[in-house]
Amino acid sequence: MIVDTLIHARWIIPVEPESVTYEYHSLVIDKGRIIDLLPTDTAKHKYQGTTTENLSSHALLPGFINCHTHAAMTLMRGIADDLPLMDWLQNHIWPLEQKWMSEAFVRDGTDLAIAEMLLGGTTCFNDMYFFPDVTAQQAIQHGIRACVGLIVIDFPTVWAENSAAYIAKGLDIHDQFRHQPLITTSFAPHAPYTVSDDPLQKIRTLADELEIPINMHVHETLHEVDDALAKTGQRPLQRLHNLGLINPSFIAVHMTQLNAEEITLFAESGAHIVHCPESNLKLASGFCPVAQCLNAGINVALGTDGAASNNDLGMLGEMRTAALLAKAVAQDASSVPAMTALRMATINGAKALGLEHEIGSLTIGKSADVIAIDLDQLETQPVFSPVSQIVYAASRQQVTDVWVAGKQLLKKRQLTTVDISALKAKIVDWQGKLSK
Ligand SMILES: [Zn+2]
Repeated sequence: MIVDTLIHARWIIPVEPESVTYEYHSLVIDKGRIIDLLPTDTAKHKYQGTTTENLSSHALLPGFINCHTHAAMTLMRGIADDLPLMDWLQNHIWPLEQKWMSEAFVRDGTDLAIAEMLLGGTTCFNDMYFFPDVTAQQAIQHGIRACVGLIVIDFPTVWAENSAAYIAKGLDIHDQFRHQPLITTSFAPHAPYTVSDDPLQKIRTLADELEIPINMHVHETLHEVDDALAKTGQRPLQRLHNLGLINPSFIAVHMTQLNAEEITLFAESGAHIVHCPESNLKLASGFCPVAQCLNAGINVALGTDGAASNNDLGMLGEMRTAALLAKAVAQDASSVPAMTALRMATINGAKALGLEHEIGSLTIGKSADVIAIDLDQLETQPVFSPVSQIVYAASRQQVTDVWVAGKQLLKKRQLTTVDISALKAKIVDWQGKLSK
């Protein structure tokens, strides 16, 4: 049988079923989907690929799902480091955004983010930023999958003047992209301290109608919780719960401040957490009790946050940090083993976005969102366990090939849909503007 792409690999880590690694197997891709996964010997007799890849020292795995990004903020990478969250936001990031935010800023910053993400094996990102239509457009142009956040914030920006306008623009964008196979949307109210009850109630009703997730920064710092307690007598999560937001379509990003009651509430509600360990560490925001959350049955996915607070969009590094930090926080070295970290970066992200039927594992019938990591480097030798090498030792430079919906976007470290020199010229131009 002739198929579009046949990949013979040294190892295949499908993620589902859990803890399985196949050796000398092949992945068969046709019309953008995984149609078979079988021993290479058999595959060579059964299939003929229009394109055939022999990845004799590589592990194939599902592409990483970066569940929390502000893609365009790559343009502000390194512009204001080593500051606490509120100082960083109020005195540096928000004034810069006020001055420079535009369609062009989002277009060029998103292009940089997409290039970086593909080079690091990310095949899907869940974004929250202004001009989400531009983000969606750039994702389509480069062939990467994205869930674009329909941002809502109480104060006026160049994107919208008030919460009603943010919501109206979001609905238009949802409509505009609803037939694009690579694009989904979520409502993205920024945070409890920047969005009031009235728009949150409207968002809740609309999200139910459209059956899309709600994605929000929640309990990022102790300061956020203390401030809300002082002003309203309620912790932000309690307020969101009272507004009916905590349900299986709710994605809470950060969650560094959690008591036992809140962990139970999340476990019972089916809401999701996106853990962003490197951003939390860099801004000294606090520690999400990941091991406790996972043990309680909460789905915990992984995100890098924006490049202004991380400062990279690498999911390999994020997995490693998540696994190491979880052990330290739980004071238990068996917490978040390598396979769990890999699940957080793949299938758990798919579940949070409501896309687990489509992506997150190398399962027959799912979209062919696939990456290859070359383990034949001294830094990842010997290979007793490919998953251990990937989570604890591999670097982004070892990601050699990336496919999204069967289309190859990275081929032997070369991006197929990005003009790197043109992109670099734009970045240099932005650096000049932003330094003024
Ligand atoms: Zn964020």
